[in-house]
Amino acid sequence: MNPVRILISILVGLMLVLPQSADAKRGQMGGKMGGGAASKTNPMRPDASRDIQEKAGLFNTGLKPVYPATAKCLEVKSLFGDTTRYDGSSRVEWANSGYHNGFDISADEGTPIVAIAAGEVVHKFTGGRLVGHQIILRHAPADTGLPVWIFTKYKHFDELPALEVGARVEMGQVLGPSGNTGTVGGHFGAWGYPHLHMSVYVNDTGEYRSIRRSAIPKDVRFLDPFAVYLKGPPKPFDNHAVKALSDDAKVVRIPYKRTDGKVVPQGTKLVWPFMCAPR
Ligand SMILES: [Zn+2]
Repeated sequence: MNPVRILISILVGLMLVLPQSADAKRGQMGGKMGGGAASKTNPMRPDASRDIQEKAGLFNTGLKPVYPATAKCLEVKSLFGDTTRYDGSSRVEWANSGYHNGFDISADEGTPIVAIAAGEVVHKFTGGRLVGHQIILRHAPADTGLPVWIFTKYKHFDELPALEVGARVEMGQVLGPSGNTGTVGGHFGAWGYPHLHMSVYVNDTGEYRSIRRSAIPKDVRFLDPFAVYLKGPPKPFDNHAVKALSDDAKVVRIPYKRTDGKVVPQGTKLVWPFMCAPR
C-alpha cells in the first residue's frame, strides 16, 4: 500500500466511524430498546471488536452453493466471512476487522435485484464508501417458513429504491437496479465495482430499532446468507452450528425465480437475489 492510499483509508475510516457515534447516541436516546445495542457491543458496528463479532457469528462457515444446472444464475464471488474480495485482494482492516459480513455477487449495473422473501421494508439509506444506496427488509417466520426472524440488507443499488419504509414486498419483487454506489474510490478506484452485497441478520423476536444509517435488530446475530437456503435437517440459524455441520449437510442448492417468472423449486418461500435465465 502506498502512503496516499493508507491516508485515504484512514480518512474514510474516520468518516465511517465518527458519524456512527453520533447516530448511536441519537438512537440510544430515541430508541425503544435503550442501552447497550448502540455501543461497541453491537456486532453490526464496523468498529466492533473481533471478539464480539466472532461470537455473533462473523466467520466463514464452509457452506457450499450448488447453482442450478438448468438456469444461469449470477454467482457469489466473495463469501461471507472471507477476508478477501472477489479478486483475491485483502479487505480493509478498519471495517469488521477485515471480515466480510455478507456475500458479494458481481452484476452489471442495472441488473434488477429482487427480494429473497416476502417482507417489509424497514430501512433505506444512502451512505458513502462501503455503503452507497441500501435497503433493509424484515421477514417474519410466516414470510419465510423459517423459525426465526431474518433481516436482509442489499447494498450498492444504482439508485435508491422507491419503496417506502413500511411497504410490503413479495418474494421475487424487484427492489431496484444493481450498481456500484459505495464502491467507488479506495481499492476499486474511480469506476468502482458493480455488485450486490447482501447481508443477513437473525433474531428471535423481530424487534429492531432504527438509527440514521441502519436498522439494528435486538440481540442480533450474523447469518451466512447461504444458510437461509439450507434444506436440512438439521437446519441451523446460528453460524456456530452452521459451521459444525458435516460436509454433506453444507451443500446448499440455490432456489430461484426465473426471468420468465417461474419459481424453482415450486412452493419455495426463498429465492436468489437475482433472477436466473433458463438455459
Ligand atoms: Zn460485500
